[in-house]
Amino acid sequence: MRIARFDDGRIGVVTPDGTGVVDVSDVVGASTSEWPPVAMNRVIARWDELVGPVAEAVGERDAVDLRTVTLRTPVPWASKVIAYPVNYHDHAAEMGAGYRASSQGFFLKPPSSLSGAGEPVVLPRVPGREVHHESELALIIGKGGRGIPRERWKEHVFGYACLLDMVVRGKEERVFRKAFDTFCPVGPWITTADEVPDPEWLEMQLWVGDELRQSASTRDLVLDLPGMVEMASAVMTLEPGDIIATGTPAGVGPVVDGDVIRIRIQDVGEMSVDVVQGESGHAAVFEQEYVPPTASREAR
Ligand code: MN
Repeated sequence: MRIARFDDGRIGVVTPDGTGVVDVSDVVGASTSEWPPVAMNRVIARWDELVGPVAEAVGERDAVDLRTVTLRTPVPWASKVIAYPVNYHDHAAEMGAGYRASSQGFFLKPPSSLSGAGEPVVLPRVPGREVHHESELALIIGKGGRGIPRERWKEHVFGYACLLDMVVRGKEERVFRKAFDTFCPVGPWITTADEVPDPEWLEMQLWVGDELRQSASTRDLVLDLPGMVEMASAVMTLEPGDIIATGTPAGVGPVVDGDVIRIRIQDVGEMSVDVVQGESGHAAVFEQEYVPPTASREAR
């Protein structure tokens, strides 16, 4: 099933042809006025009991045209967004990084950076700096747990989504540069794990406009998907709705006002997000000079 969150926090199921969404907010008990917005966390936690009534409602109800709704981020109140840096060898080479996720561990992005497929990436005011896209597969945790052994990782994955790990390039704290609002688009929806037969061999592409910038397979991950669940849960209790950003392959690069970023992951989905220049986000630390790796590469 493909489970979308849209408009004012409604939850729906995307039709098989991908053109419509059936609203099941009432079936899953999602109130659009609730704060914090944890309806999807509860849906994921209670999925075993909800999947029957949801499927029944989908069979009986009309879909609304997907083009008439605004897709929001599927789990806006994830307790954590876990992200693995430098997890493809070719990206390590382009960044000149001497370490890998397998030896470095993970970092966290704030849930407030999450946005949806129908929302733009808003660039902060950081003159002289580049904001880069990173194309990543997202794991959405289902059953929580601590100390999950790698051979049981699939029991804890509810589904998959496309994820853009946006970043201001620089030498400052990684989290600081990756924490801006809208710097973690996730979508276009959650594709449940039963519809992704081989998550460890998924083709992934990212375009900016018509330019193909990133193309890779999850088969090329340094720390593999089982290893990422094992490592994260060794440290923290994973909760339903937690998100793991699995790392980006080579081809990262800058985006500017007016760009459209398109990411596609086999069996998972495809989304396009607009890039717009915002007014906020200035911080004095970004006044330090920095030559981004893509610029130094082009200079060579
Ligand atoms: Mn990343």
